[in-house]
Amino acid sequence: DLLISQIAAGEVVERPASVLKEVLENALDAGSQAIQIQLEEGGVKLIRVSDDGCGIPKEELPLALTRHATSKIASLEDLERVATLGFRGEALASVAAVARLTLTSRAAGAGHAWKLAAHGSGEAEPAALAAGTVVEMRDLYYNTPARRKFLKSEGTEFAHCADAVKRVALAHPGVAFSLSHNGRVSLSLPKADLAGRVGAILGQDFLAECRRVEAAINGLSIVGYAAQPAWSRPGRDAQYVFVNGRFVRDKLLAHALREAYQDMLHGSRHPGYALFIEIDPAAVDVNVHPAKTEVRFRDGRAVHQFVYHAVHKALSQVIS
Ligand code: ADP
Ligand code: MG
Repeated sequence: DLLISQIAAGEVVERPASVLKEVLENALDAGSQAIQIQLEEGGVKLIRVSDDGCGIPKEELPLALTRHATSKIASLEDLERVATLGFRGEALASVAAVARLTLTSRAAGAGHAWKLAAHGSGEAEPAALAAGTVVEMRDLYYNTPARRKFLKSEGTEFAHCADAVKRVALAHPGVAFSLSHNGRVSLSLPKADLAGRVGAILGQDFLAECRRVEAAINGLSIVGYAAQPAWSRPGRDAQYVFVNGRFVRDKLLAHALREAYQDMLHGSRHPGYALFIEIDPAAVDVNVHPAKTEVRFRDGRAVHQFVYHAVHKALSQVIS
């Protein structure tokens, strides 16, 4: 059973950053307004995520750790129109198979919080917490030395974790985030609007070089910022595309964006952008890849054209 868990865990627990991403998505699905992340040793020794979301009732704590138990999908029909970030109900179960996981949570209306350790007595114990949920994962891969061997340096794993936080934070400017590593604050993001959040994460210098992108047609919209072709930052890419709040790496979208910049880019410069596409959930499949960074559009041609035109138009506008 444990072996099956560990194999199935695959992508979800590939490295500390992928674990962190799942736990952050749960916090967002819970409606959190402020999320704190504490990491130690690149996330391998500790990942602790505290949120102020809706919490988990005591009787649902064991379910949260059970594979394929999700509170977010009730029917097959729901699966066709996924609106929450999580829906497989396997993230926490997968993490519990490779780390020492504890959940502490206080649901709205509960007199106090409850704490459940994945490998403890099985009984929840009373705990102190004002509201929300704390997910604590210690000693990642303590029981899977083979996986531990594939980890990079502490600095590299931390950098991947910080990237995961930045992606999630870009897509949720109205939520406050803080990130600390080995006790030192590394990122502190107050609630902001989109421009404020893009500036805080990608830099005010980046934002100053950007054109605003904004377009909508039936069931499809795009907003965000695209840096003018002359913008570049040595050695650092800034290419962020989100579909319905999820960071994606998609060939079709990358192609549309390359075309939009074509003839405008000089030399070997990479375009920079932070773009947010919203599309009817029924017109996009987010279930292609376990790590969920790939998407499949029902009408890829229409999406390609729409994105191309919106960005091309923004870049071609003469500053007045
Ligand atoms: P999924 O997100 O796909 O439903 P997970 O394994 O990530 O599956 O989480 C299992 C369940 O645990 C969720 O459906 C949710 O009910 C609950 N849960 C997990 N994290 C939180 C959180 N931070 N706040 C509230 N509920 C949570
Ligand atoms: Mg989840």
